[in-house]
Amino acid sequence: MHEDIATALKLPPLEKGWVWLVGAGPGDPGLITALGLQALAQADFILYDALVDETLLTLSTAEKIYAGKRAGVRSCKQDEISDLLIKLAREGRRVLRLKGGDPFVFGRGGEEAQALARAGVPFRIVPGVTAGIGGLAYAGIPVTHRDTNHAVTFITGHGIDGKLTKMDWAAVSRGAPTLVLYMARKFAGEISAALIAAGRSADEPAAIVANAARADQQVIVTTLGGLGAAAENAPSLAIMVIGENVRLAEELNWLAKTKT
Ligand code: SAH
Repeated sequence: MHEDIATALKLPPLEKGWVWLVGAGPGDPGLITALGLQALAQADFILYDALVDETLLTLSTAEKIYAGKRAGVRSCKQDEISDLLIKLAREGRRVLRLKGGDPFVFGRGGEEAQALARAGVPFRIVPGVTAGIGGLAYAGIPVTHRDTNHAVTFITGHGIDGKLTKMDWAAVSRGAPTLVLYMARKFAGEISAALIAAGRSADEPAAIVANAARADQQVIVTTLGGLGAAAENAPSLAIMVIGENVRLAEELNWLAKTKT
């Protein structure tokens, strides 16, 4: 981080004994915040997730520790990560916990912050661009749009146990016109069937944005009825969106236009 910018923005320093939980955004390293950059420059240790872009890590001379987890595997790993954060902070290190997207959106950042709070370790939360908003923006899909939806629901497709999230899908279907699904590729068929059974139209537009905001981004536009089949063929890192706002991608898919 350029000193002048840090001063002008009044960025607080990452101090010894502190942990910063920072969102790295969905892919494009340029989406990290100024506070995130400052943390990269000042950290002694970085604990990072699988979803974090490697370019960001190369910017830092800190010691880097991979703290990735696989879907559905809770095990004691989450506790191990929290314990390590606490240990390093108590040793007086400057600790950066770098997570994909936003740390508080389906990323267990809340659990890590709770562990720090309970241990009396000072911490700062630095929000990031979440895949369900910024990833859609990279596909030219506004998460809300006046002509299509006044509300949006963010859902995780599976819970800690790796099974389809237990929820009242009928109520979800009657709720917000736009639904954004994280971690839902495996259950896309089941979710789409449940929503259609509850009264949503099978013809409603839907999209899968795979590897959003990355060099290999793919935007697959389909319908609610076609979502399951489309998901089977999509790359594994995928965000899904159901709703009329998907139609805007045709006009607003700026990234595809930039490439050609
Ligand atoms: N904290 C993260 C979400 C972590 S959960 C955030 O705020 O974005 C992981 C899920 O996020 C993935 O299964 C996928 O559904 C979604 N996701 C994260 N990054 C993505 C990307 N670049 N492209 C598509 N989906 C992404």
